[in-house]
Amino acid sequence: MANEEQATQGGASQPGAPAQTEEQTAKKERPRKVKGAEWIEGYHGVGVFLEQHNGRIAPVAWELCGVGRRLADKIQGKLYGIICGHNIDDLAQEAIYRGCDEVYVIDSPQLASYRNWAYTEAILPVIDKIKVTIFLLGATSTGRDLAGTVATRLSTGLTADCTQLDVDPETGLLDAIRPAFLEKQLAVILCKKHRPQMATVRPGVMEPAARDTSRQGRIIKETFALGDDDIPMKVLAVHDEGVGSVDLTQADVIVAGGRGLGEPRNFDLVRELADTMGAVIGASRPVVDAGWIGHEHQVGQTGITVRPKVYVAVGISGAIQHLVGMQNSDVIIAINRDPAAPIFAAADFGIVGDLFTILPLLTQALREKLGDRAGGSSSGNDQGQQPVTGGVALG
Ligand code: FAD
Repeated sequence: MANEEQATQGGASQPGAPAQTEEQTAKKERPRKVKGAEWIEGYHGVGVFLEQHNGRIAPVAWELCGVGRRLADKIQGKLYGIICGHNIDDLAQEAIYRGCDEVYVIDSPQLASYRNWAYTEAILPVIDKIKVTIFLLGATSTGRDLAGTVATRLSTGLTADCTQLDVDPETGLLDAIRPAFLEKQLAVILCKKHRPQMATVRPGVMEPAARDTSRQGRIIKETFALGDDDIPMKVLAVHDEGVGSVDLTQADVIVAGGRGLGEPRNFDLVRELADTMGAVIGASRPVVDAGWIGHEHQVGQTGITVRPKVYVAVGISGAIQHLVGMQNSDVIIAINRDPAAPIFAAADFGIVGDLFTILPLLTQALREKLGDRAGGSSSGNDQGQQPVTGGVALG
């Protein structure tokens, strides 16, 4: 079902921060009344879908716990985790440490691998039982797939790919905020008349919940009655696409190359710098579209959202569709020959100049500085290797 209202916030030069309109400024000063928006009786609290695969939690799950806890506190409700899978008890306890008050566990061999039908049948009775007023999933391929089916079955609204969330404590109305119009504006999407208010959240954008082992909560085990014959989808085999070794979302250091590299073989310059820094290689969309490097390396709106400790952008102009994918990096270093390139507005350190001169010098200087600690082949990418960035003057 389509969402019921959409308001866009125009002229947001910082995609992370909506422009303040007069109406919004006024909103801060008095409690907001949205026409037609009221608490819907019986619904309360916030639910988060805790995505896992083979017993390994998807990082977005803890990000949902972080934002879910904040929203739940604001409406004075509980945070509920819902987890499906097989042999996942440890994850339920971890979810309590990450802020959930109650975790509903649906454990069955039929749920060992994700299947839309089975997962939908598993979580719908739980949502029906707890009646959360807000239900969040990660905007991963699993989360997107599941959210659409669940929202349809519940006849409620779903906002996809949110980058910010807020809730009005008075009305309980969720502000589901997501980029719109080629990421140039932020849309605030409301679901006034149906519950739960559903949203998927872009991975890597929200802060993960801090782990607090002193937290207490309840773990509730639910049964799953369906047998394999009741589920029309069968998992015959699971094939690794062969990109498992490139996980930009987990990288501490990323060196990304763009069209400024000129031709595919020049990616070697990026690769050498990345290897020296123990970094993973990222890329802008045009070079991925041109086939210089695989899609799993693409950062941005239609690629992956990253938040490494260090992001080095080489020959990347800084289009908004790229910035939304990396602007939350702790430190951004840009190398570009155009001093007016928008990437510099987002960068903490900028080097204006020809990348063909700068990259070999930088790589050489880092190698000398880091000595034996440099080198390796992490760009290809050994995620286990510790990044080596200390003590290097890049400014
Ligand atoms: P360019 O914009 O061409 O920039 C190249 C830069 O290299 C320039 O700033 C130039 O000054 C610099 N340069 C050139 N030569 C040198 C040199 N010798 N030394 C130093 N600097 C040099 N883009 C993404 O990246 N990710 C996405 O997910 C994405 N999604 C999109 C979704 C939609 C719906 C649309 C419409 C676009 C999307 N784009 C995305 C594309 C985006 O709009 C830009 O076109 C793209 O990011 C530009 O890539 P670039 O910076 O590599 O290339």
